[in-house]
Amino acid sequence: KKITIALDGFSSTGKSTLAKQIAKQLGYVYVDTGAMYRAIALYAMQNNWVNDKQLLKQDLIAALPNVQLKFVYNPTLGFAEMYLNGENVEKQIRSLEVSNQVSKIAAISEVRAKLVEQQQNMGKDKGIVMDGRDIGTVVFPDADLKLFMTADAATRAKRRYEELVAKGDDVAYDEVLKNVQERDLIDSTRTDSPLIKAEDAIAIDNSNLSKDEQYEQVMQLVQS
Ligand code: C5P
Repeated sequence: KKITIALDGFSSTGKSTLAKQIAKQLGYVYVDTGAMYRAIALYAMQNNWVNDKQLLKQDLIAALPNVQLKFVYNPTLGFAEMYLNGENVEKQIRSLEVSNQVSKIAAISEVRAKLVEQQQNMGKDKGIVMDGRDIGTVVFPDADLKLFMTADAATRAKRRYEELVAKGDDVAYDEVLKNVQERDLIDSTRTDSPLIKAEDAIAIDNSNLSKDEQYEQVMQLVQS
């Protein structure tokens, strides 16, 4: 029987790596909801709305009906890439510039309402692994398996830093650590759908777990 798996947690806890691996093993669909918030942030940045609180709220909310987000599976990469109004923005949305703006945009209720509705539609059929911040609490409160990933901030920043450097980004570790901490703070303190562990979610602190160990743990939970 196919199930719905909700994978939430703090920034850079390795949610997407784990979710991709599980989805692949089970033949499930994987949805990275962070990519959707990142694409909206990129859109707001392209329109120069991010530095003015008033513009950001008014103009972005007014423009939301014109923003089309789509995941397109790339068989070479083995996962879906994000398209914003027909353009592949997968690379751009992963930059530190977008990371520095995204939590502010994700705190806007109208943005969340639009994306949550799309996410719920994507998960109508079971056999899905969705990762984000509010999947077990808001998007799929009835998910069959809920996981909540944590790790200490320094470990997470180190992982994200190494990832960015490997991609050729010119970033400093301190900048990445600051971003991870700031996003955690904004995400956990916003009024609409704050980042919080669902009561029935299983917490996994992966500070000292290898990727394989995490995968084994979760597969055991899936099978039990
Ligand atoms: O998962 P990722 O780190 O790419 O998410 C980027 C940001 O998008 C998060 O820091 C958070 O502000 C927002 N987000 C959210 N709800 C989700 C997924 C992401 O608010 N379900």
